[in-house]
Amino acid sequence: MVKKVQLKQDRNIRLLMVEDNPADARLVQEMLADSANSRKIELTRTGRLKEALELLHNSSFDVLLIDLGLPDSQGLDTLYQIQTAKPSLPVVVLSGHDDEQLALEAVQAGAQDYLVKGQGDGNLLTRALYYAIERKRSEERLAYLAQYDPLTDLPNRALFRERLTRALKLAMRRREPAALIFLDLDHFMDINDTLGHDAGDELLLNVAARLKNCIRAEDTIARLGGDEFTIILGRIIHKEEAATVAEKIIDVMSRPFSLNNNEVFVTASLGIATYPACGGNPETLIKNADTALYSAKAQGRSNYQFYEAEMNVAVSERMVMINDLRHAVQRGEFLLYYQPKLCAKRNEVIGMEALLRWNHPVSGIVLPTQFIPLLEETGLIIAVGKWVLRVACEQNQAWISAGLPPLPISVNISARQFHQKHLVSTVADILNATGLDPRYLELEITESVLLENADNACETLRELHDLGVQLAIDDFGTGYSSLNYLKQFTIHTLKLDRTFIEDIGTNANDAAIVEAVIGLGHSLRLKVVAEGVETEKQLNYLRDRGCDEVQGFYFSCPVPPAEYERWYLNQAQLPRNLFAQQLLRN
Ligand code: C2E
Ligand code: MG
Ligand code: MG
Repeated sequence: MVKKVQLKQDRNIRLLMVEDNPADARLVQEMLADSANSRKIELTRTGRLKEALELLHNSSFDVLLIDLGLPDSQGLDTLYQIQTAKPSLPVVVLSGHDDEQLALEAVQAGAQDYLVKGQGDGNLLTRALYYAIERKRSEERLAYLAQYDPLTDLPNRALFRERLTRALKLAMRRREPAALIFLDLDHFMDINDTLGHDAGDELLLNVAARLKNCIRAEDTIARLGGDEFTIILGRIIHKEEAATVAEKIIDVMSRPFSLNNNEVFVTASLGIATYPACGGNPETLIKNADTALYSAKAQGRSNYQFYEAEMNVAVSERMVMINDLRHAVQRGEFLLYYQPKLCAKRNEVIGMEALLRWNHPVSGIVLPTQFIPLLEETGLIIAVGKWVLRVACEQNQAWISAGLPPLPISVNISARQFHQKHLVSTVADILNATGLDPRYLELEITESVLLENADNACETLRELHDLGVQLAIDDFGTGYSSLNYLKQFTIHTLKLDRTFIEDIGTNANDAAIVEAVIGLGHSLRLKVVAEGVETEKQLNYLRDRGCDEVQGFYFSCPVPPAEYERWYLNQAQLPRNLFAQQLLRN
């Protein structure tokens, strides 16, 4: 590893002069004494290479001034021996008039400068020495940057390739397996988005430190960029060894990281490709470890996968889908469907939820569970989420303007969207632009989103509350359900997850949970909504337990706006003629 030498400006410069001619040496000494420069030069002198090497070995010097023609060594060979012994030492060659050509070759071979004896004065000499030190320092810095990641000090992509090639050659020669692991942090972008880039950098540093503890000294960890790390296990006996390392990594990553006084939890996904089973050259191994990583992410993160040939199909399907989604945003292939929410007691519509649909040119209507995770991963959710908010608000305002009783519209907000910096101002802007009264907008957030970064979440919820919008916790009961946070968050509504409703009739535990959540919600003065109501029996159970609102296929599935209007006018038995003209568009 390269040391980052920083010369203190006030320290003396320790110079080693290797010059066998006493007259030349004296001349240099006098020139140094004459120099007007403020920094003192501590001079050590010797006349032989052998002694010089000993001195270099035993004490440290900032710069070397050397005559290449010595009693025990001649020409460039002198320089090579010095460089082998002390590769990072700046060297200035002292040459006679007759070997100026040699001095030039010495610079090409790595010396920082050369001086011709008898030319120049003390100031020139000291300046040459300082410049040699600085030049060497920037040369080393450049060489370092070409091979290392400056943040973590780990090898970068270039050095990783080199090491991988070398490891595979060695494995081939020994006829032993090797393994390549690709690692990627799950949801790293969320941390960057919420805590800022400095915190992100600090996290990467901590991750690198933990990774180093999981491998042997002869293995390589590299950072390819972002939150992508690779590990080369140069010598393994069995592929299980790679699995053991992967398990250890997942384990050490699962402990909390502390960043700016925040406890942050991250998980890692890993893909493993072994040599020779998953590829015989660096390119194939890299591609396959990457494929295995994709597969690990798709499996739900925080796990590792060994590469298998079938993975290629799944991964390319994913790639196609991501590509299609990017187009979908540009081509406007998204739609909103609406599903009514009713008051459990009076069977009266009291609001509606906007649910995203993707009208895929080939597959037709695609449900959000199939593409929202990809939107999240690619960051497209920010743009699409904004679109959803705007269209839902526009639609609600249009219904209100057409004379329908004003009701709140619910919009789902995903994790990434919630934790983005500009959520509150985006919501405010959209309300402004559409003219919708904030109380007719409700945002649904899942409980796991709130727990990820509770302090920030609390703040965001308060700001949204201050805007005047309603806030609901969606899918309540599926996350960690900490009762503690319910008190601290400014929310209005709990939406019981539909899996509990589904099992009301058959599972006594679920029925008990439903009853308990309704009680809990009411004691905290929250409204309780049940989603996924499909039968009259479920509706009766919920109504009898005091559940406030219900939503589900029993009343209506999510439908396009025109169909929603027809349904609404039908069931509400509003004076059709009054609104029908304005509402029914087709
Ligand atoms: P969610 O917010 O919990 O929405 C309720 C889901 O339950 C909807 O699925 C709805 O169609 C379905 N559902 C409603 N009633 C019933 C019923 O009686 N039985 C059954 N089996 N299902 C019912 P959908 O539309 O497929 O949406 C799934 C999830 O995708 C939503 O769950 C929500 O988390 C997410 N989502 C939908 N639209 C958006 C959006 O615009 N933005 C974001 N970020 N997420 C969205
Ligand atoms: Mg919802
Ligand atoms: Mg839900």
